[in-house]
Amino acid sequence: MTEAISKPLKAYQVTEDYEGHGCVVFATNSATARREGASEIGVEWESIESCRRAPHFDKYAPGPVPMEEMIKAGWWFECLGCGQRVSDDYEYDDEGNEIASGAYVVRKSHVFCNQECLARHDARKRMNVAAQNALIELVEAKFPGCTLQSVYVYGEKLMPSDKRSGTRCRANFTFPGAKYGATYIFGEGDVAHVSQIDVPAFVALYRKSEVPTDQEQTA
Ligand SMILES: [Zn+2]
Repeated sequence: MTEAISKPLKAYQVTEDYEGHGCVVFATNSATARREGASEIGVEWESIESCRRAPHFDKYAPGPVPMEEMIKAGWWFECLGCGQRVSDDYEYDDEGNEIASGAYVVRKSHVFCNQECLARHDARKRMNVAAQNALIELVEAKFPGCTLQSVYVYGEKLMPSDKRSGTRCRANFTFPGAKYGATYIFGEGDVAHVSQIDVPAFVALYRKSEVPTDQEQTA
C-alpha cells in the first residue's frame, strides 16, 4: 500500500459497456483504475468496456477533474434540473430553442443546462422543503407528543396518494409507549398505519377510531 502511494497517480478514463456511462479515476495502474472506475459507476468489474489512460487529465490528480474540463474534452452530463444532455455541442431546450455551448452551469458536482434551469430546480427544492415542514406540523398537530422520524414528500406540494404515483406524502413517527411507531399518509384523514404491537398504546393515547394495521410498516 505504501509503495502504491509513492507512485504518481495517473488519470484513466473508464467506461461501461451497457449504457456507456463513464468516469475519470486516478490510480497508479490500469487494474486499480478499472476496479475503482467500476465501483464509481456502480457496475461489476466485468461490465467495464474500456479503461484507457487520459494523460490530458493527469494534472488534476488526485481528482476530481473539474466538470467544465470534462465537458470541454467531449464528455457529457445529464442536467440535474431537466435531465437533458449537457455537452460542448449546440443543444436544444424543452421548447426547441438552441442553447449555445457553454450556457451550462456547474455547481458543486452537478451540471445544469442553463441558469434558468438551475433557478427552477432550486425553487422546486425550496417548495419541497416547505411542503415537508407543513407535513411535520400537520402530524405534530394530529398526534400530540409524537416524535417525527422521517418525512417524504414527492414534488412541490402536499397531495394525497393516487393509484398512478403511489404514496406521495408520508411521515414516520413514534409516540410514547410505542415499540415500532406509526406511519401517517397524507390524505387518509385521522388514521395512521400502526404496527400491531403498538395499536393498544396508540389507541389509548390518541383515541383514534380507525387504525389500519400494517406489519410491513414495522420494518
Ligand atoms: Zn436543465
